[in-house]
Amino acid sequence: MLTGKVALVTGAGRGIGRQIALTLAGYGADVIVNYNGSADKAKEVVREIESMGRKAAAVQCTVADHEACGNMITDMLAAFGHIDILVNNAGITRDNLMIKMTEEEFDTVIQTNLKGTFNTMKHMYRPFLKQKAGRIINLSSVSGILGNAGQANYAASKAGVIGLTKSMARELASRGITVNAVAPGYIDTDMTQAMTAAAKEATLSQIPLRRVGTPADIAETVAFLASDKASYITGQVISVDGGMAI
Ligand code: NDP
Repeated sequence: MLTGKVALVTGAGRGIGRQIALTLAGYGADVIVNYNGSADKAKEVVREIESMGRKAAAVQCTVADHEACGNMITDMLAAFGHIDILVNNAGITRDNLMIKMTEEEFDTVIQTNLKGTFNTMKHMYRPFLKQKAGRIINLSSVSGILGNAGQANYAASKAGVIGLTKSMARELASRGITVNAVAPGYIDTDMTQAMTAAAKEATLSQIPLRRVGTPADIAETVAFLASDKASYITGQVISVDGGMAI
């Protein structure tokens, strides 16, 4: 389904990003595994992808740094020749009720989740235009659609990702480039492990399908959006949340 394609997945050393990288490779893509702090885990993902017979590279870069994203993309275009699929998965939380939320907690989350998505898209803009083809898939969140008490920073960043996605979809559609967002609900990763047992129970009770999602649930949706099967879908936000946002 993705043979001959090269994908860049941000935050791909662990969690949902790791599963996206492995799934895209499973469908035939070569994969650039971006990481920030998880060097060993990213290298392990690269080894797994190579064992599938695909090409892969681990590359350190914080998506929050505009210039560093530019350097990463220049280096990886030189190494792989082209990048066809960009998955903006890197994300963080710094949860707090607004009354306690610091300016630093607000800024850090916006800088990583929203500005980080801008940074990679900005640097991939010209290469995608030249190629007259490309797929961008951005990770939003159910929190960006519904809002969430204690996550004003995170929800704002993820709602912002939806605005970026729709605007870029309109800008790039005439060039054959699609831009979509996936909005996960409650997915079992390190991010949600940090929740208290009471918060987990409360969240579970809001899921119509009555189960926690898996990274594979998200990765398969991303792979579909990255494939030719989704060539007539752009500017959409696909909720993969067990029905939370109905
Ligand atoms: P995890 O906390 O498990 O992993 C976060 C990933 O993001 C890591 O790979 C981490 O890399 C990377 N990352 C964080 N900051 C940066 C940075 N500055 N530069 C590059 N990479 C960075 O999160 P999940 O896997 O659960 O989440 C993945 C995405 O899905 C996020 O965008 C998240 O907001 C979204 N999402 C998750 C939900 C869930 O329930 N889990 C629900 C809704 C949305 P490293 O370890 O190398 O630092």
